[in-house]
Amino acid sequence: MDYRALTLVPPATATDATVTAWLAKQLPRLAPALVGLRRTLHQQPERGGEEQQTATLITGVLDSLGLPATTGVAGHGVVALIDGHHPGPTVGLRADMDALPLQDEKRVAYRSRVANTTHACGHDAHTTMVLGAALLLTPLAPHLHGRVKLLFQPAEELIGRGANEMVAAGVMANPRVDAIFGLHCQPQLRAGEVEVCHGVMMAAGDLFTIEIEGQAGHAARPHEAIDTVLVAAQAVCALHAIVPRRLSPHDPTVLTIGAIHAGLAANVIPGHATLTGTVRTLSPAARLRVREVMEQVLDGVCAAMGAHFTLDYQVGAPVVVNDPALTDLLAQAAAKVVGKEHVRESREPSMGSEDFSYYQQLAPGSYFRLGTANDDPATHHPLHHACFDLDESALPLGAQLLAQAAWEYLYRAAGGPLRQ
Ligand SMILES: [Zn+2]
Ligand SMILES: [Zn+2]
Repeated sequence: MDYRALTLVPPATATDATVTAWLAKQLPRLAPALVGLRRTLHQQPERGGEEQQTATLITGVLDSLGLPATTGVAGHGVVALIDGHHPGPTVGLRADMDALPLQDEKRVAYRSRVANTTHACGHDAHTTMVLGAALLLTPLAPHLHGRVKLLFQPAEELIGRGANEMVAAGVMANPRVDAIFGLHCQPQLRAGEVEVCHGVMMAAGDLFTIEIEGQAGHAARPHEAIDTVLVAAQAVCALHAIVPRRLSPHDPTVLTIGAIHAGLAANVIPGHATLTGTVRTLSPAARLRVREVMEQVLDGVCAAMGAHFTLDYQVGAPVVVNDPALTDLLAQAAAKVVGKEHVRESREPSMGSEDFSYYQQLAPGSYFRLGTANDDPATHHPLHHACFDLDESALPLGAQLLAQAAWEYLYRAAGGPLRQ
């Protein structure tokens, strides 16, 4: 599709009120194109690190808008710039692009055509929304005081990859991103509801693998072996005691062991066991402490049993911490789009993690949630569920929200009033 066919004629004058009204007015024209984009992406999902076709689709839309794009960033990432006609700061809008290794179990015409791969985390919707924001903001370029940088990021679901590699590739520089917004679909909220968060929003997420070495032997002569099943069992119990007994109850932490592998037969004592899991923390202190105490606990358990271990601890995304002033701006922008009564503050930090936090290491950012549910139970499945789907009326809303937030940021930076 040639998205120039949608050519949106910008408002003649650019006050906060005229632009806000103009953005809202474009939605009926934009909505079918965005639904089409999302369904195309949904049918051709690509896993983290493999987002080639997704990048091609993104650059196709950007090309038709006349926006030059840098491709091949951190793998298949795409970065583009909407250059305002007046000088000013740069505001970033970020989307993630990757799907999950999961079989799509929905019964809809636009279901995934790729076996064991589906957009169960809504990243197809996020990509569509940032493209929608580009469709809205590009015609506004004559009125923009500054630039909008569009960041399409691969591999969000792969620990330490996506955003980390985008940042390392320099996407926050040239021009420097002064503020950044991003959003996630939220099936626990209805389409048209927005949840913002002032401050700590999501946990740091790390992964670990523990290899335990013992001594294999006959099941009938355990005294001649070093039983790694028993060592692993004791290690699991001792590791789970770290959170309640070695960390402050005021510093929320989660330690989960998600997989144990040892042995093949009922009558053989295995000489090797592997445990893998994840640690979620909300403070740098807790993050360091868990890792340190895990070493101590494994040292003690393994020494007592005559076994040895290695701990491979992979540091993942840091804590998502939203800038309060930017979140105020976002909440006010969202109120203009969905109504103040549909914008709420997040009640408590999630122990989930999100690599948007890597961008927040370099610029103030605000990450928010956009509801995607309606009365249809098909929209009630949680994220990462094989049947996850959304109310597609959220697509133009997400585009409008991102465009409104970017507009507000540049407008205020140019000296526009704080409230209207
Ligand atoms: Zn996810
Ligand atoms: Zn996600």
